[in-house]
Amino acid sequence: MEPYTPGEQPRDRRYIKLNTNESPYPPSPKVLEAIRQAANADLRLYPDPTCLALRTAIAERYGLPGADWVFVGNGSDEILAFAFAAFFGPREAAAGAKSTAQEAKEAAEQTALQTAAGNPDTRPLLFPDITYSFYPVYAELWNIPFRTIPVHDHFEISVEDYKQPACGVVLANPNAPTGIGLARESLIKLIDWHREAGNVVLVDEAYVDFGGESLADQVQRYNNLLVVHTLSKSRSLAGLRVGYALGHPDLIEGLRRIKDSFNSYTLDRLALAGAQAAIEDREYYDAMAARIVATRERSRAELEALGFEVLPSAANFIFIRHPARRGAELFQALRNRGILVRHWNKGRIYDYLRVSIGTDEEMDTLIRICREII
Ligand SMILES: *Cc1c(COP(=O)(O)O)cnc(C)c1O
Repeated sequence: MEPYTPGEQPRDRRYIKLNTNESPYPPSPKVLEAIRQAANADLRLYPDPTCLALRTAIAERYGLPGADWVFVGNGSDEILAFAFAAFFGPREAAAGAKSTAQEAKEAAEQTALQTAAGNPDTRPLLFPDITYSFYPVYAELWNIPFRTIPVHDHFEISVEDYKQPACGVVLANPNAPTGIGLARESLIKLIDWHREAGNVVLVDEAYVDFGGESLADQVQRYNNLLVVHTLSKSRSLAGLRVGYALGHPDLIEGLRRIKDSFNSYTLDRLALAGAQAAIEDREYYDAMAARIVATRERSRAELEALGFEVLPSAANFIFIRHPARRGAELFQALRNRGILVRHWNKGRIYDYLRVSIGTDEEMDTLIRICREII
């Protein structure tokens, strides 16, 4: 197995930490208060395994009919792991799509025949070659055949490339680590295209609150759409480990079955209390996101003035390259001066750095040091 490598959390010295897309701002005071309130003698008791209060709050926040449209997990990474296990990989594809018991039986026999002939239904899971690097890790963990689709010249994704036989599609929108957002209408067409075959399209909206176009309001229209969010980025709660998914109750039930085959209590009492307060304090978090977007746009302009190429970002990070410096060289020079960013030793993105948006002061320091280096 080749596991995912998270961005480093160094302890050797103080860095300006722009490498893991955490928020530079603290969580809402209401979140901290809710966690304090929950830190009481009830911690001797197991938490609610159904996380009903939190799921109800999330359903209300997104205008969904009820908690059965919402799943919550110990970070969205956990939800992704469960979703890959639940929805992707070899399956009795035809059986699921048939409506009558007789048709389902025939389809199952057909699949069994194919399997017996050494020809099982192994249509691949599709995702871009440049995207969140946890996706191939989950696919390999669960033995899911997958095909990576190359992004285009300027790292754009064309949804047309994903209209092909598959067992499902995973797209991050905005994408990571590029920050490029996908238009809602084109994604909706893709979801529609895959609906007939019963393929789940998973849209990972980890960064959507920084200017992306969300599909959260489409889950009632498309029963094959699963939208995944996290509290780690826009809600300043990477340390609490909470994510959630929105989708048709059948999809939510699929996730629940995986979870309850693994760990019934993935969210603890403190996380449940803090997460609910975060979902309810929209005003605070909208203001934080707006601040980060303003800092992003200013930083982009200043880096461009220094000769950097900055990809258009709808996220809380930017993906940048300087024509006069190799990526690894810039990464090391910044690190030596106390600034941590993310660099990948990978072909097409070797010369790029992913820089999380920090406070205005942190970004000023970054820009000053870049000027010195260059
Ligand atoms: C950060 C991130 C996640 C994981 O978030 P957690 O909730 O902290 O597990 C998922 N998907 C993408 C694309 C991310 O960047």
